[in-house]
Amino acid sequence: MNCKYCKSTNIVKFGTYTNDDGKEIQRYYCKDCKHKFTELDTLPKMKTPINEIGSALNMYYGGMPIDAIQGHLKQSTGKYLSEPAIYKWIIRFTREAIVKAKDFKPQVGNTWLADETGINVGGHNVWFWDIIDAKTRYLLASHISLARTTEDAQILVEKATQRAGKMPEVIITDKLRQYIDGIDLATGGRARHVRSKPFTDENSTNIIERFHGTLKQRTNVIRHFKDLETARLLTEGWLIHYNFFKEHESLGNVSPAKYMKIDMPFKDWNDVVRYANVRQPSTFEFAGATPIHEPITEKQKRSAYFRKAVQKSRVKKRLVELSQPQLRMTR
Ligand SMILES: [Zn+2]
Repeated sequence: MNCKYCKSTNIVKFGTYTNDDGKEIQRYYCKDCKHKFTELDTLPKMKTPINEIGSALNMYYGGMPIDAIQGHLKQSTGKYLSEPAIYKWIIRFTREAIVKAKDFKPQVGNTWLADETGINVGGHNVWFWDIIDAKTRYLLASHISLARTTEDAQILVEKATQRAGKMPEVIITDKLRQYIDGIDLATGGRARHVRSKPFTDENSTNIIERFHGTLKQRTNVIRHFKDLETARLLTEGWLIHYNFFKEHESLGNVSPAKYMKIDMPFKDWNDVVRYANVRQPSTFEFAGATPIHEPITEKQKRSAYFRKAVQKSRVKKRLVELSQPQLRMTR
């Protein structure tokens, strides 16, 4: 028998315990990596095997609805699992994945593409902003908003430069004017901004179109979200699925992160579940819904004042939207 975590054979028996079914379970201790584990492939205090939870997450981010996942698991394992239980796993291990992927620095190129898509959710048009690296197809950042403002463009680009740990040379966007000030504020004018609609360069058009095809999966994933915060969490989860696990034809059937040949925090959803901190589930505040940089130049200041006026009218609009109960809004 090998250690479940590091595959070492340097393991010793470490007592037994009786599980809920009255079965005696042997516990082991790995002298190399100091992990404790049992012969069952489950997390402590959980009955469901790790690979079943992992495959539920994989199916979910692949675009499968939760009731279909439930049916699939019942067929393959004979076990009945409630939909809320499956949903709870998805939320919990998505959080774990986000925390573990936080410090991953992707090695991306110098041309990035930004785009936004409107999706109707509960009668509201919600904007999904995305920015991807042209060379590796790595999805650097996603952002959700109710309106398309300079601030939103800024938040998107700031998230991307933070993740990449660098500025791109060029950012290609559509003609949306909010990108002009947004990119300027986020990069301090250090990235060249190319606006084109439709994307004139054949390569960028190709990348964006393929990406939009993939986005249909994400729409399935977040269509049933209950509030904007959950939508943001699941969008970050989908970003991880897309970057780390989803194979890309144009990259020779590996994921964008695998393509970079650098150390990944996990290789699949099973890994995310296996290495989850059981004693202390990850909690974190959702950052990134506010811009980081204050306006610096005169031009930026002027646009900032302009933004304030626009914001005022947006607040009014938001109040109207808030009075509609389908969607709880935090922004
Ligand atoms: Zn070990």
